[in-house]
Amino acid sequence: MRSILLRFNRLSGVRNITSQLCLQNPFREKIRGIHTCSGKCKSLRDYLPTFWVPKTVEPPYRHVTQIGDPILRLRAEAVPDGEAASPAMKFLFERMIAAMRAFKLVGLAAPQVGIPLRVIVMEFPEAVMETYAPEIIKTRNMQLLPLTVGKIYHHVQPPPQILVNPVLKVTDFTRKTFPEGCGSMTGFTADVARYAGVEVTGYDENGMQKTVRLEGWNARIAQHETDHLEGTIFIDVMDRKTLQLNCWEMINAREGRVELKG
Ligand SMILES: [Zn+2]
Repeated sequence: MRSILLRFNRLSGVRNITSQLCLQNPFREKIRGIHTCSGKCKSLRDYLPTFWVPKTVEPPYRHVTQIGDPILRLRAEAVPDGEAASPAMKFLFERMIAAMRAFKLVGLAAPQVGIPLRVIVMEFPEAVMETYAPEIIKTRNMQLLPLTVGKIYHHVQPPPQILVNPVLKVTDFTRKTFPEGCGSMTGFTADVARYAGVEVTGYDENGMQKTVRLEGWNARIAQHETDHLEGTIFIDVMDRKTLQLNCWEMINAREGRVELKG
C-alpha cells in the first residue's frame, strides 16, 4: 500500500525526466527522417528495433483495464486513515475522473485504472441522460448525479461523486432488473438485478466523511462500482442468458466483416 502511494508521488517527476530524456535522444532526428521518407516505409519498429523503446505506461492509467486483467479480480485495499486528501490520492482521482469522462462512463473503481484501492467515482451527467429515451429514463428511474453534494470547482462541470473506502448499505430491498454494461467489458451488456435504494458512506476528496443516498439508476451505479472493489464484475451477478455483444446485429448485416477495436 505504502509503495503504491509513494509511486504516485514520484510519478509526475518520472514523467518529466522521461520527456527530458526524449529531447536529448541523439536518434530523435534520425527517427523523424525515417518516419517521413515515403509511404512505403516499414514501421519504425522494423527499422530500429534496438532503439525502439515503447512508452512506459504505469497505473493509474488513462485507460480502463479490461476483463482478464488480474487486478479486476483482487479485493481492493482500504486507503489508510488520513490519506484521502493526500497528493497521491488527488492524482488518482484526477486520472479516474479523466478516464471515466473520456470513455463516457457513469462510474469507475480504482482497479479499473490499475490501482487496487477502495476508491470509486460516479457521475451521471446531462450529456449521458440525453442519450436515453424518455420512457427508459422513467422506467429505470435515472437521475442526474452528482446530486447537490460537493462544491463546484471545475468551472463548468460540477465534481463527480468521489468516495474513498465506501461502505454500501441497502435502504430499499426492492430488486429491479435492467441491462447494464461495464467499461472493463467494452461492448457487452446483460440484465442484472440490483437494489432500488442504497446509502454509501465514505470519505470525500478532502478527507471529510460523507454519506450519499441514492436510488434507481444511481443506486445501481454505486452497487456496480463497489462490487469492483470486491473483485466482482457484473457478469458474475448477471442473468447469464441475457449477455449480449451490442453490435451483434451489425455483424449479421455485414456478414461478419466487423473488426472489434479496443
Ligand atoms: Zn464496471
